[in-house]
Amino acid sequence: MNNVKFNYSILAVMFPKDQTPAFKQDVQANFLAKLQGVPDFPRFDPDDQASKVLGLIDYANLWRHRPPPGLAFAGDAAVAADPLFGTGCGWALQEAEWLADATAPAFGSDREIDEGVGRYCSTLRSKLSGHFFLISDYSTGRPFNPVEKLTFSAAARDARAAHLVAQFGARSIPARRLLAPGAVAHAVRVNLGAAGRSGAAVVKENRALLRRRATSEPLVPPLAAQAPRP
Ligand SMILES: Cc1cc2nc3c(=O)[nH]c(=O)nc-3n(C[C@H](O)[C@H](O)[C@H](O)COP(=O)(O)OP(=O)(O)OC[C@H]3O[C@@H](n4cnc5c(N)ncnc54)[C@H](O)[C@@H]3O)c2cc1C
Repeated sequence: MNNVKFNYSILAVMFPKDQTPAFKQDVQANFLAKLQGVPDFPRFDPDDQASKVLGLIDYANLWRHRPPPGLAFAGDAAVAADPLFGTGCGWALQEAEWLADATAPAFGSDREIDEGVGRYCSTLRSKLSGHFFLISDYSTGRPFNPVEKLTFSAAARDARAAHLVAQFGARSIPARRLLAPGAVAHAVRVNLGAAGRSGAAVVKENRALLRRRATSEPLVPPLAAQAPRP
């Protein structure tokens, strides 16, 4: 088995619940048809399929707020949000770090550990509850609300607004920063003054975005920046 490398990809499709009965009539064929309906989707050979298609309906958005004494939750056990947004793995690792930071100084005393877990729960609420609320709200299948339309359209026209939305999408800032009065006012200004400026500004803004990306600190460091495996 030396030097044998395995490359696996997970393929997933998501669609409104009212399409479920039709989809279930032939899960395998409909799964492939949905993938092949994606523009430029690379050809997938069904012979390479490693497992049967697994389905999930009514995947709950879950937040366990108050663990009983002596217990702490991290990862999906603490906060499990709609997987559409790809937050779960990053949150699980980040929560583990927050939990370790909050409880490490308390070892040796059950009471202090519970207090540390309480501080960890406060950190979760402060950093993730806004994101969790917005993700859960959007997972109902609703369309964008006016504030989302405003901030996202500003992001398509302006480097500062784009950077803020990128940070929000990467969950490296609390959701309230996107909705702060200054950010919303900036988005309004960008949208009101956008006509005629957006095209001319593209090159300049791309450069500004690259500069910002190079200097911004992610919530979770990229794998390459972490210690190499022995
Ligand atoms: C379809 C889908 C797509 C997703 N896409 C993304 C994505 O693109 N990006 C992203 O960041 N996240 C994504 N997620 C979410 C991500 O997979 C989870 O948030 C993440 O795996 C949570 O990690 P965890 O360690 O908390 O739980 P898990 O990864 O679920 O690990 C829990 C483990 O505990 C084991 N276990 C359970 N009960 C017992 C028991 N009694 N004894 C022993 N072992 C037990 C389970 O078998 C499992 O291996 C996706 C999720 C789904 C369903």
